[in-house]
Amino acid sequence: MGTMSDGQDLGLRQQICEIGHRLYERGYISGSEGNISACLGKNCLCTPTRVSKGFLQAEQVSLIDMKGKLLNGPLPATSEYPMHTAIYQAQPAAKAVIHAHPPYATALGVAGIAIPTDMLSEGMMFLGSVPLLPYETPGTVALAEQISKACQSTQVIMMKNHGALAWADTLEGAWILMETIEAMAKVTWLAKTLGKVDLIPEAKLAELPQCKSLAAGPAPAKAKK
Ligand SMILES: [Zn+2]
Repeated sequence: MGTMSDGQDLGLRQQICEIGHRLYERGYISGSEGNISACLGKNCLCTPTRVSKGFLQAEQVSLIDMKGKLLNGPLPATSEYPMHTAIYQAQPAAKAVIHAHPPYATALGVAGIAIPTDMLSEGMMFLGSVPLLPYETPGTVALAEQISKACQSTQVIMMKNHGALAWADTLEGAWILMETIEAMAKVTWLAKTLGKVDLIPEAKLAELPQCKSLAAGPAPAKAKK
C-alpha cells in the first residue's frame, strides 16, 4: 500500500505539492520551512525535510506511519511530524494538517499577541477563538502534547515564537483556515498601527451563524461567556 501506483495516493501527493506551492507563493514559508500532511488509510503522507515546499514534486512526498517510521519516499519525513500525528490521533475528524510561518500571524506570536478573532465576523464564524500556545521546541513530544490538547477545541493553533497550524477534513479546508488566520493577523496588525482594536460587541457575537466545524466543539468560546 501507499505506492505511487495507487490513485488516491497520487492525488493526495499532488494536492500536498499544490498547497506547498501556494504557501510559498503567498510568502507563508521561506527556505525549507513549513510542512503539510494528509491521512492515507492508517498512515500519513507528509512533506520531506529540508526541501522547499515551493517546488515540491509528488514523488518526493514521504509516507510514514503514525509513529513517524518512514514507509516510502526518497527523503526523510519532516522532523515536525509529531505535531501532525498528534492531531490525527487526538482528533478523528482531522484528515489534513498544514503548518506554516505566515509573517503577520507569526510576528504577532513572537510578540506574544493572540489574534483576536472576535474583531471580524469571519474570524468568529470560521475560526472560533484561536489559542496562542507557549513556546515549545519544534519536533518534541512536549509540543505534540500541547497540540493534541489544543486540537480538541480548535482547528487553528498559534505557537509562540514558531508559527501557525491548521487542520481540517481536507487539505483544501486546512488551506482556507491557514489563509483566514493570516488575513486576521494582518488586520490585527493594521488596526494596532492605527492605535485601536475594537471587538464585535459581545451581545452581537451570539447572532453570528456558527459554522459547524469539523471538530466537535470549536464554537466561539467567547460567545458563550
Ligand atoms: Zn515549524
